[in-house]
Amino acid sequence: MKCHECNGEKFERRVVELSTQVGDHVVVDRSVRLPVCMHCDAFVVPSSVLEMVELRAALVAFLDAPRVTGEMLRFARKALGSTQTELAARLSVSMESVSRWEREERPMEPWVPLAVLGLVRERLMPAPENVELKKTA
Ligand SMILES: [Zn+2]
Repeated sequence: MKCHECNGEKFERRVVELSTQVGDHVVVDRSVRLPVCMHCDAFVVPSSVLEMVELRAALVAFLDAPRVTGEMLRFARKALGSTQTELAARLSVSMESVSRWEREERPMEPWVPLAVLGLVRERLMPAPENVELKKTA
């Protein structure tokens, strides 16, 4: 393995600080350890890691921002890997509604950020294994 910046060959695994712009906020993530070049501090964020960082950024933005903006909704949708049509289907609304919320042409009803938060949480924390729901007689 060689550093893409300086061609250095010595790396050290350490916590990196990853900042993600979410609407008019920045989410700072210090939960990732990556090999960092010991000569120039450069590192590469693998796409699988970036995917989780974006989902966590969406989660924190939705939980902590005073208001979920249209830009934040768009960010969360993309972090989920969904098109407007796909998100609309999961929320049982029209694609036009999603589009208008994202462009802030229409305010989101209070349930919308909660439902999207649920989708983000579900992706970050899959249902536990070996636990099943059964209907009682
Ligand atoms: Zn380097």
